[in-house]
Amino acid sequence: MKCIFCEISTRSIPSKIVFENDKIIAFNDAHPVAPTHILLIPKQHIDSINNTTEEDQLLLGELLLEAKKLAKKLEVSDAGYRLVINTNEYGGQSVNHLHVHLLANRKMTWPPG
Ligand code: 5GP
Ligand code: ZN
Repeated sequence: MKCIFCEISTRSIPSKIVFENDKIIAFNDAHPVAPTHILLIPKQHIDSINNTTEEDQLLLGELLLEAKKLAKKLEVSDAGYRLVINTNEYGGQSVNHLHVHLLANRKMTWPPG
């Protein structure tokens, strides 16, 4: 089954990769909705957070910690930023490979649309 983010992870399709380790890869969103818009994904294919279990506890924690570290590296920590995980139709998920959005460098509003 074709998955855009698996293809980005294996570099079958190009992206601007900003971080990578053995389990996680982070790259710029192709259609940014903020001046900084990065997606962090597990290299392993997981459809959505609905498909995670206790076995993924470490991976889920690492996704958030790497997002925090990226925010620090990009010097947006103090001003603030937003981490988002959209899930399924009502959550606005359009790519069915678990990902964390890191949005920064503009003031976000609440509630989100
Ligand atoms: P979702 O709507 O599922 O939460 O987020 C999916 C995100 O993936 C969107 O922000 C969209 O712009 C981004 N996206 C979709 N296709 C590609 C692609 O081929 N490359 C990159 N870098 N981002 C993509
Ligand atoms: Zn995938």
